[in-house]
Amino acid sequence: MAFTVTILGNSSAKPTSNAHPSAQVVNLNEQYYLVDAGEGVQRQLIRRGINPLRLRAVFISHLHGDHCFGLFPLIATLGLEGKRTPLDIYAPAPMGEILEFHRRYFWDDLPYEVKWHEVRTTEHQIIMENNTLEVWSIPLRHRVPTAGYLFKEKQPGLNVEKFKIEKYGLSIAEIVAAKRGEDIVRNGEIIANEELTYIPYKARSYAYLSDTNYSARAAERVKGVDLLYHETTYSEKENILSKGRGHSTTHDAAKAALKAEAKRLIIGHFSSRYKDYEQLAEECRDIFPETYIAREGETFTIEQRG
Ligand SMILES: [Zn+2]
Repeated sequence: MAFTVTILGNSSAKPTSNAHPSAQVVNLNEQYYLVDAGEGVQRQLIRRGINPLRLRAVFISHLHGDHCFGLFPLIATLGLEGKRTPLDIYAPAPMGEILEFHRRYFWDDLPYEVKWHEVRTTEHQIIMENNTLEVWSIPLRHRVPTAGYLFKEKQPGLNVEKFKIEKYGLSIAEIVAAKRGEDIVRNGEIIANEELTYIPYKARSYAYLSDTNYSARAAERVKGVDLLYHETTYSEKENILSKGRGHSTTHDAAKAALKAEAKRLIIGHFSSRYKDYEQLAEECRDIFPETYIAREGETFTIEQRG
């Protein structure tokens, strides 16, 4: 089952000649979720070969333009493309008002439903759940109410060892029961479920933390995450600047990854003053070696591990 994150934008505040504002797509088992929707996100989706009609839901971290200005034209285009199923949008208030405004002036004949779900940015809770995935909100420390998101894959179902099927001569009904976690009972004898089954791989996770000052609490809430995206607007040299603006430096991001015991860190949301992202990554690697740059168009894969 695929679990990937594709970067559509990595710049903060404004687009530049070669960088778009924040947007990413999480793909879990061919279910696509858009995370933030900076200006230009429609073209970025097309360029990366992701059909916008496949988006199941959108998660907006906060209502700064560089994280949501791309959402409204995308909603209109999905209507032109013939979307009929609802689009779920998870975002802090007052997104509802902004959507209503657009509906009134631009979308009065939209052929599908836009469903807004308010994300309470002070609460750490499950905000969306389906068969394969839970999405949690993570309170962040920014200038306006902001939530990060934790995408937690649900534990995959049990598999039955092939040689145990032969050893015990299991019937189809017994295999199905074992996969449900049941023991097998035959003539009063019990074959314990653990004897027959194994977990195919550990459930995986991805956390998106942007925009924010360093938050030990947020890091704690994503403990053990496989892949952590943490905003890194500034070099450590701009430490003072970052604090007042509700942003993080390279060292803040690396410290968060360390605290979270993340396996890998992706950094992005770079200030337009930087042309050399590699230097920013090097600053992070002083503290957290497994640091990677969120380059536009790059896809990060979270591998299955036993
Ligand atoms: Zn912001």
